[in-house]
Amino acid sequence: MALIVQKYGGTSVGTVERIQAVAEKVKGWRDKGDDIIVVVSAMSGETNRLLDLAREIQGNPVPRELDVLLSTGEQVTIALLSMALDACGCSARSYTGHQVHIRTDGVHNKARILDIDATRIRRDLDKGRVVVVAGFQGSDEEGNITTLGRGGSDTSAVALAAALKADECQIYTDVDGVYTTDPRVVPDARRLERITFEEMLEMASLGSKVLQIRAVEFAGKYNVPLRVLSSFKEGKGTLITYEEQEMEEALISGIAFNRDEAKLTIVGVPDQPGVASKILCPIGKANIEIDMIIQNVGVDGTTDFTFTVHRNDYDKALAVLEQTRQDLRAREVSGDNRIVKISLVGVGMRSHAGIAGTMFEALANEGINIRMISTSEIKISVVVDEKYLELGVRALHAEFDLGDKPK
Ligand code: ASP
Ligand code: MG
Repeated sequence: MALIVQKYGGTSVGTVERIQAVAEKVKGWRDKGDDIIVVVSAMSGETNRLLDLAREIQGNPVPRELDVLLSTGEQVTIALLSMALDACGCSARSYTGHQVHIRTDGVHNKARILDIDATRIRRDLDKGRVVVVAGFQGSDEEGNITTLGRGGSDTSAVALAAALKADECQIYTDVDGVYTTDPRVVPDARRLERITFEEMLEMASLGSKVLQIRAVEFAGKYNVPLRVLSSFKEGKGTLITYEEQEMEEALISGIAFNRDEAKLTIVGVPDQPGVASKILCPIGKANIEIDMIIQNVGVDGTTDFTFTVHRNDYDKALAVLEQTRQDLRAREVSGDNRIVKISLVGVGMRSHAGIAGTMFEALANEGINIRMISTSEIKISVVVDEKYLELGVRALHAEFDLGDKPK
């Protein structure tokens, strides 16, 4: 008998019929003899609806009261799901985050979970009940209701799984797993049977938006096996777990990409100690996040410096950099906001040489010019012109044989 935490997202509980379908599914697991804790999100659209209401009254709603408001979305679904479970003959009990002592810090609207007292949940499980817990919420030391940030129910589920040492945390959503790349770009993209936490973090942060990144980090930290699967389609989904020695690891797990990139260059800056910080500190102060950084080899005592930012920050970054150019008496500032980043991700890279070469050659064969390159132990990223995104991703997907159909 296993202990399983299942999380159902907003679309999976978006209507009464869907809530009933979830209840049937949960009952199926329960009938097999497993202990089940269910974490639910608010019905789809509900959190946004509540946010809009708040904003009609106050442009910037008081964070404490906003949490009181937003947490009601999940309170609706726990009650409805428990009723639906009861109606199909499955004994269940619903709990808000506060009721099961999901203790968080006091940072309203983006609180972090500190600990969970599992006594009450265990007692119910022992009585054969399904325990239904509201995602996305907890309470701080003083009993104030807190919420965990958008998409936070994933993190609630993982935290409960960690606290109760569950055998698996299953995240039911509207996709049936993690794919080698976006199927809208590469129609023969394949669902991955498994992927490591590390790889998933690279894929997620690079735009494969299946899971809240914080939930993946949390699961990795506490070694909670995490499975992403569809609420609508039968299937095993994708298991996110630790790397196992005996398994033959795939060389490349997937190709992530990011459309919203922009790059900026400052040309002819003095090649002296402290210059990099003089360029980047003002950017950081303006609250702009930097991704890749390249500094060229200096010639004639000057050098060029290029970095990438999110496309939304492009204009702001250009303005900051122009000021820096004047302060440093640099020659010129230039930029391009029609670029994208494509990344090859795979733990197999650690033990295999030559992958970068193969990647660059595949791009060259398509006539794609690489503008920037960065690498980590399990990832190689390139920046290319926006118009080459689809072509580049398809070429790499085929080159590394990631699709359903063999090359
Ligand atoms: N209901 C919250 C949101 O819409 C939390 C979640 O769904 O995970 O962000
Ligand atoms: Mg979600």
